[in-house]
Amino acid sequence: MTTEVVVLGGGYVGVWAARRVVGRRGVRVTLVSMAPHHSFHGWTAEVITGHVAPERARVPLVELVPGARHIHGVVGTVDTSARTVDVMSATGAQRLRYDHLVVATGSRDATDRVPGLTEHGWSLKHDRALLEMNGNLAGVVEMAARTADPAHRRRLLHVVVAGAGFAGTEAACAIAQRLRAAVAAESALAGERATVTLLGAGADVLPSLRPRLEAVAEYAAGKLVEAGVTVRSNARLASVTPTGPVLEDGTVLAAATVISALGQTPVAPPGLEDLATDAAGRLVTDRFLRVAENVWAGGDCAAVPHPAGSGPCPANALWAIYHGKRIGANIVRALRGREPAPFRFPGLGQGASYGIGRGAAELYGVPLTGWVAWLARWVFFHAYMPSRRVALATLVEWRRHPALPQVGAQPWEDRGRAARPHDRRSTAPR
Ligand SMILES: Cc1cc2nc3c(=O)[nH]c(=O)nc-3n(C[C@H](O)[C@H](O)[C@H](O)COP(=O)(O)OP(=O)(O)OC[C@H]3O[C@@H](n4cnc5c(N)ncnc54)[C@H](O)[C@@H]3O)c2cc1C
Repeated sequence: MTTEVVVLGGGYVGVWAARRVVGRRGVRVTLVSMAPHHSFHGWTAEVITGHVAPERARVPLVELVPGARHIHGVVGTVDTSARTVDVMSATGAQRLRYDHLVVATGSRDATDRVPGLTEHGWSLKHDRALLEMNGNLAGVVEMAARTADPAHRRRLLHVVVAGAGFAGTEAACAIAQRLRAAVAAESALAGERATVTLLGAGADVLPSLRPRLEAVAEYAAGKLVEAGVTVRSNARLASVTPTGPVLEDGTVLAAATVISALGQTPVAPPGLEDLATDAAGRLVTDRFLRVAENVWAGGDCAAVPHPAGSGPCPANALWAIYHGKRIGANIVRALRGREPAPFRFPGLGQGASYGIGRGAAELYGVPLTGWVAWLARWVFFHAYMPSRRVALATLVEWRRHPALPQVGAQPWEDRGRAARPHDRRSTAPR
């Protein structure tokens, strides 16, 4: 009888787990995902500035895991007693039997933490949302160039990014760089400048780096200032209305675009409510990445014990990749009648980019800034892109950037046309 391995989610965990198992004799791997492609979130800032084309940040799952059965659908209820999972796809509802189940449903933007943010704000997590947000940036500049009302123009050219962690600081910097160039290129906006406000709930940006990597965090803060980003400390977003964001102290900001970088909410399919979760709602795994018999979990939806014994692993792509690899390897061990091996990845580091040559990173505990940090992140990102074909294409495109050796550039303004500008109020940001 065929052994059924069902993987829920086509993100980092799902792809790397499925790859380890697919092609084994007598085993069928079924990969279920809401999105038909894998999204590489690391390039978010570069997609905003146009340094990386949006299509390089996503790859069809059928290309990444050939040999698997792919179901493009939404996961319904998991029944761990009957070992089934319900899936709803365009062809209707179906019940899948599993021998091993991988829960790799990741997380979603926590826009529901702030009233109005889902309806009137923008998310960066899903690539369609990112594309729409990019189109919106092009749209507000065009609208600002057409309007004769100075107050409306200032509001259109004001972007608020809520959340001063890695994703928020990178996005705010990229948006400021992009808008500065777009405004300068628009003759009707001569003398105008765009404003990007970054809201941080605490006293400083990048609180997760402090105090251990204070110098790296301060370097990033300096790059934000250089890019023209206005940082508002101790500023919590209370709500977002059609007219703009409202802070907890009652301040109303005149900004047409509000972007959520407030963090992620883990996503676990229904039916797993009886399993242990941590305070953030993540499924608590053992050190073999199991949450129940023959049910495995990793990545953003799971609290996996850190091999060094210091709480759970960080929620980022690198850890998710290694969770996926270990889950896949442990399923293979189980199929061979062997005991699972514990998760032992020691970590590598973390990094962010605030423009070409302006990196802030930590590699094996060593703080890095500037070109070294930027290059380290750049090399690792290409190495960890899930498709060699797309990684190579991305490398070739980098050669066209004016700051690097060139072979004929396509400016980001042209690429931005791929996502057509539209009026924010008439288009939902999902
Ligand atoms: C803007 C942004 C920038 C980031 N930058 C970096 C970075 O530079 N470096 C870094 O290491 N990390 C970064 N991260 C974090 C990183 O993206 C996550 O940690 C990583 O995606 C987690 O991988 P995962 O496999 O757990 O989940 P995901 O990659 O989120 O994958 C989840 C999968 O499950 C699918 N899914 C979810 N719910 C359902 C459902 N109900 N039915 C069917 N399918 C479902 C989704 O479609 C997706 O395929 C960034 C995140 C964001 C949002």
